[in-house]
Amino acid sequence: MFEPRVITDTGPDGFAELNALTGAESLERCYGCGKCVPVCPVDVVGEYGPRKLHRKVQIGENLLASDELWMCTTCANCLRVCPKEVNMVEIMPAAREEAISRGEVPNELTQVFEATFRQGNAMGANPRRRAAWTKKAGVPVRELPKDPAPVDVLFYVEDYWSYHPRGQEAAQAFARIMHALGVDFAILGAEEKTLGDSQRLAGERGLFESLMEDVTATLAKYEFNRIVTPDPHGFNALVKEYPKHGHTYDVAHYTQFLAPLVDRLELTTPIEARVTFHDPCYLGRHNGEYDAPRTLLRAIPGIDLVEMGRCRENAYCCGGGGGGMWLDGFMSDKVSERLSERRVREAAESGADILAVCCPYEVSRFSDAAKSTGNEHLQVLDIAELLDTAMGSPKA
Ligand code: SF4
Ligand code: SF4
Repeated sequence: MFEPRVITDTGPDGFAELNALTGAESLERCYGCGKCVPVCPVDVVGEYGPRKLHRKVQIGENLLASDELWMCTTCANCLRVCPKEVNMVEIMPAAREEAISRGEVPNELTQVFEATFRQGNAMGANPRRRAAWTKKAGVPVRELPKDPAPVDVLFYVEDYWSYHPRGQEAAQAFARIMHALGVDFAILGAEEKTLGDSQRLAGERGLFESLMEDVTATLAKYEFNRIVTPDPHGFNALVKEYPKHGHTYDVAHYTQFLAPLVDRLELTTPIEARVTFHDPCYLGRHNGEYDAPRTLLRAIPGIDLVEMGRCRENAYCCGGGGGGMWLDGFMSDKVSERLSERRVREAAESGADILAVCCPYEVSRFSDAAKSTGNEHLQVLDIAELLDTAMGSPKA
């Protein structure tokens, strides 16, 4: 009564293109359990998640030509819960690289890639202004190109602490802390270029590798013991990507560097406030560091540290990872609110007066979101700024 079915005729053709891309093969492994959807921060404000993407590819959507290719922030919360290890942190860069080669890329990202290529930073700022922030630090900050003597700590400032006005304030606070601790530190100044991890995750592997060549050549010119950076994205590049290419350094996020020294910080000025802390995806989930920032916050007298419901391993994403930093305009008609706005509302609901952060993307993202959600009373401050204030700095 039935003809034998030719099951190969119903094969998953939609996945063939993805499976040809190194890194993108795991999407096909999805078996639809649905665990990833409720933890996906984009799904909270829209319709997203690996299961939903899998289904769409299954029924014929071409992910490489779809806006959905650019909506994932590579926050890794789905990977954390997925029994089949469907890995969006690898799928997205691989598929985006292919889409870019076909000319399918949001304009905002093209501009960032070009700015990074030309100037060595995502903001397109003049590299000669890299060290401009040091003038108002109130303490001397050595620039290795001008004074190349060996140094203990190379402070890799990265883009947003170098150029964004609010980032510069955090960089200045950190320099004062390092000075107070008597740490021998220096920066690369005009020779610093971004480590480019977000550009890599947004699909520009070629740009990332060319930056890596430049950065490692610059680092080879100087003698230092370790690198300390405030940027979890740069940190991720140095600990996970650079070693794959034979470049290994002793690297710490600045909170990891300071936490063991906390007893030496003279935190004598109380900050009487309720504070909540936002775990950066690329420090927490991606690299397992949840305690160092909290150790520093708890050491500040007067602070009442409260946690948001989604914290640590399950922390909500600010929306800035994987190229999302530059895609707020592109995302605006695809989500009910920005991820940063959602997160700020969670912070406000915790009863906090201050949202503490330790990723250079976040001060600007969350400050804007505090305004747009009517939560102006919520101050967004980097942990370095809070420590600096508690150390009695008149600048903070
Ligand atoms: S958790 Fe993994 S297997 Fe389950 S639906 Fe999501 S992607 Fe598919
Ligand atoms: S990596 Fe994050 S944003 Fe991307 S699909 Fe997974 S949970 Fe959603």
